[in-house]
Amino acid sequence: MIGRDLHCHTCFCDGKNTPEEMVLAAIERGLTTIGISEHGYTAFDSSYCLSLEKTEEYKAEMRRLKEKYSDKIEVLLGIEFDALSDLDTSDYDYVIGSAHYVRCGDKYLPVDESPSDFEQICREYFGGDYYAFAREYYRTVATLANKKIHIVGHIDLIAKFNEGNRLFDMADPRYLAAAKGAIDALLPLNIPFEINTGAISRGHRTEPYPHKLLCDHIKQKGGTLILSSDAHTAENLCFKFEEFEYLIK
Ligand SMILES: [Zn+2]
Ligand SMILES: [Zn+2]
Repeated sequence: MIGRDLHCHTCFCDGKNTPEEMVLAAIERGLTTIGISEHGYTAFDSSYCLSLEKTEEYKAEMRRLKEKYSDKIEVLLGIEFDALSDLDTSDYDYVIGSAHYVRCGDKYLPVDESPSDFEQICREYFGGDYYAFAREYYRTVATLANKKIHIVGHIDLIAKFNEGNRLFDMADPRYLAAAKGAIDALLPLNIPFEINTGAISRGHRTEPYPHKLLCDHIKQKGGTLILSSDAHTAENLCFKFEEFEYLIK
């Protein structure tokens, strides 16, 4: 059994439950460690992340829970840091580095908003060329190599709405070269890449991130993988960990 889950969200951002409800659910599941990783503040999009004011409240609440449940479970104060943000993350126990946007001029374009937004962005900014879109996305992912992070989050988030290769072929050499380039840039950090089951629990996909070909590449190159749920509700903590545990072996 996997005894920890380090990627989840609460009502401080876009999740449903309070941090305390998440901690209690983790205790009930018998976890040894629960890490909450709220979306760090991004000035260019405040719709889903911690505000600067809420950031302080979040830290204080997590410290309270750490103390209160210290004899039952290890509670870690995490943050999900966006590749295009410049947030100071020195206050946190750990940092998940994730890319959720690409930048075109002064525009920050989300890759995980909705299928229709995703397709519209590709048409408008990349002339409908998903491989060009992917190149720019993975170039952004690779910049995480220069940040202080401890886990690489959902490295192929750009495939969120591409179930069944609906829009582009994830085995296409153009796509794989871009994705493997980002992985190779991050491998020297010697930190785990997550296998993220969040898009399955939210009904967008049937397979976790990253794609199997990328998991194989990470393993071949000596990288490590950990499971995380990206849960936005207490019931989705450790979502399908038993089913996908074989991927991290
Ligand atoms: Zn994320
Ligand atoms: Zn997340």
